[in-house]
Order: sequence, then structure tokens, then C-alpha cells
Amino acid sequence: MSAENIKKIQNEKLVKQVRYVYDNVEYYRRLMDEKGVKPDDIKGTEDLHKLPFVKKDDLREAYPYGLLATDIKNCVRIHSTSGTTGKRVVAFYTQNDVDMWEECCARAIVAAGGDKHDVCQVSYGYGLFTGGAGLHGGSHRVGCLTLPMSSGNTDRQIQFMMDLNATLLCCTPSYAAYIGETLKEKGIKPEDNKLKAGIFGAEPWTEEMRRNIENSLGIKAYDIYGLTEISGPGVAFECEEQSGMHINEDHFIAEIINPDTGEVLPLGSKGELVFTSLDKEAFPLLRYRTRDICILSREKCSCGRTFVKMTKPMGRSDDMMIIRGVNVFPSQIETVLLNCGYAPNYQIIVDRVNNTDTFDVHVEMREEDFSDIPNGITQREKQLQSAMKTMLGINPRVRLVAPKSIARSEGKAVRVIDKRKLID
Ligand code: ADP
Ligand code: ZN
Repeated sequence: MSAENIKKIQNEKLVKQVRYVYDNVEYYRRLMDEKGVKPDDIKGTEDLHKLPFVKKDDLREAYPYGLLATDIKNCVRIHSTSGTTGKRVVAFYTQNDVDMWEECCARAIVAAGGDKHDVCQVSYGYGLFTGGAGLHGGSHRVGCLTLPMSSGNTDRQIQFMMDLNATLLCCTPSYAAYIGETLKEKGIKPEDNKLKAGIFGAEPWTEEMRRNIENSLGIKAYDIYGLTEISGPGVAFECEEQSGMHINEDHFIAEIINPDTGEVLPLGSKGELVFTSLDKEAFPLLRYRTRDICILSREKCSCGRTFVKMTKPMGRSDDMMIIRGVNVFPSQIETVLLNCGYAPNYQIIVDRVNNTDTFDVHVEMREEDFSDIPNGITQREKQLQSAMKTMLGINPRVRLVAPKSIARSEGKAVRVIDKRKLID
């Protein structure tokens, strides 16, 4: 569809959705009234900036029913966020909402090369988390043979993957890396499995991590993005070009804003991603601030899709640590580790001792790190430390720890332990 037609659809849907939300969600009506904006003021996407933002705090304040736009008897499902950065929030779905969401996930599977001949292993967690349910529904819609594994029990994952000839794998990238590591330990080579592609998301991951997963599983690894508040995974998905994710613009409008001022930024600028849902019935959100930082672009894509593309989120605005005054993202540390040949098994520990931030990075050793040269390990720690200093501008204390001593994640990985937060 041409960008022009997409815009036309968005304009029509937006006018309706704003009226619907104003009439049915008292909480948002109040925000609009406070800002002095009425539904009639919104005639199309160019008026979007007039609407107030919704933030995660609003969802917490309105918990659980305050942003519900329809009678509870019309709802068929509840999901909840993972609570990565605070109290969980819940979202409601009508059957139409579930259908729209599953359609989005189906598009992601097709974009990764999936069709009805595929065996799709869904290893995202099933339950309140949207990962399992979303990809499961998408897989059905495409007509794949769906293997609803959920996360965990890695030996069984591998047994079924091999015995039932899974061709697509859906899970978090950290779990995919762990499955790859376990396959290697079992002596199963990448070419021994039937997998051709994986659809990985729900947490930040780097290009280095993508290469690591692609090599260890012998597949193409595609990114998928979403959040519970806006429906779940599938809000945006990667195509064969593997250079950013197409946003399903017939269902969601994306904006990039300056997170400090709220000002809307032009295409190509880095800022906070904001979504407006266009079709949702139970839990419609207008101008929801995701706190994810990325860039939008409308350059022509070789796959032929015309939906706007978002870069990988470069970490959340609240993922960023400020250590001794310097901004540090876990993804930077991951990049250094993978570039230096380490596995992505690490943990960052930040604390404050005598008013000074301490910054420790624990990294699992490789076989070759065991050395009989005196100070061999210390030397490797020093090498890593200096590579990190170059990347970050500050010096962490790097410690190589025993293989397997850092807990593996079956869902979203816990990379940072910030003990400073416990104090205030
Ligand atoms: P929580 O915010 O509690 O983790 P969700 O489970 O709904 O709740 O997760 C949504 C968040 O996960 C997004 O806002 C984003 O920060 C992160 N996320 C989802 N997909 C990706 C992805 N492909 N890359 C990076 N981050 C992602
Ligand atoms: Zn594309």
C-alpha cells in the first residue's frame, strides 16, 4: 500500500478512535479536558500532537479497570506486562483485539519466511506474558504446525525440536542463545537441526548477539517488537532485509518525541517511541509513551513493504544506568563481550560505597581462559576492562567467573543488579 493510502486509513481510523476513547474512557476524557482538546479538534494525523500523552504511571494509577473502554462482558482475555521496570500493568482484549494482534504476529512469521509447511516452536512463556499467546495465535493463523512448548525445560525443548523437525523458533534472544549453547554441549551441530529461522524479541539484543544466535543454531534470526499495553509482540517485525522492523501502521501510529520536552521529532531523529492504537476496543491507548528509544525511517525497503521502519530499541530510557555521571547501556557491554569472543553471559552489578558508584561486570570464562600461566586470568580481565573503557568512557571492574555460574534466562534476561536503588 502506498504511504498516501496508509495515511488515509490512519486519518479515518484516528478520528473514530479518538471519539470512541473520549466517550468511553473517563480517565482519558479528563486528560483531554485538562488540555482543552475535544474530539472534533482531531481531523487527522496532523492533529495528533494536540492529544495528551499516556504514561506508564497513568496505567498504574488507573489499574486495573480505569482505562477500559468497553463493558467487561465484551472482553475475552487479560494479559500483563513482565514488570521489568516496576509494578505490572494489565491489559484487556475483546475477540476483535485478539484477532488483530494475532494477525500482526502472523505477518511477522510470514516476513521471516514462514508458511503452512512450517513447524513453529513457540518457546516464549505462556500465561500472563504476551509472548507465548501472541506467537501461538500468529502461528495458527499462518497455518503452521504449532509446537506450544512455552519456556523452560531446555532438554525437552531440544528433544522436540529435533524429533518433530521444528523449522521456526520463537523465544527471547537470550533463551535462543542458551538453546544454542546447550545444543553445542550435546554435540548437536547447527546443520543437524531443521530450523531455518527464528523470531526473537521482548528484550533488547545487539547485532553481535544476532550473529551469535545465527551461527549457533544455523538460522536467520529476525527481530520482533511489541508491548503488552499496545497488544503484545508483533507491533513491529523484521523482514528479510533484517535492518529494522516494519511497524503495522494500519493498526498503530508511531511518533518519535524528545523524551524531555515531549516535542514531536522529524523522521530520522532519535527519541522516545510513542504509539496510538487505531482499532483497539477494550484497551485503546492514545499517544502512549513506550520509554523505548529508537529512530523511524521511511526509506524504500527491498522487501516491498511500505510500512515505516523502527531501529532496534537502543535500550529503554529507564534501562540506562548513570554510573559516576556517565550514561551506560547494557547493550554496549554486550557488544564488547561478543566482539572479544565471549558468550553473552554476563551480569552488571552497580552499587554505591562511600558516595562513589562501584561498577562490576561479571563475565563467564571460556575454556581457553583456564591457563597455567600465572596471572593468565588477570591478564584477560585487564584486556576486557580496557575494551570496555574504550566503549563506555569509564572503567568497570571486570571479573571472569566460572563457566555456568551466571543464571541462564528462559524469558527476559536479568542483566543488571543496581543495588543503589535499594537505598533511596
Ligand atoms: P515490561 O515492560 O514489563 O517488560 P512487556 O513484557 O510488555 O512489559 O515488554 C515490553 C517491552 O519489552 C518493550 O517496551 C521494550 O522495552 C521491550 N522489547 C520488546 N521487544 C523488544 C525488542 N525486539 N527489542 C528490544 N526491546 C524489546
Ligand atoms: Zn522490509
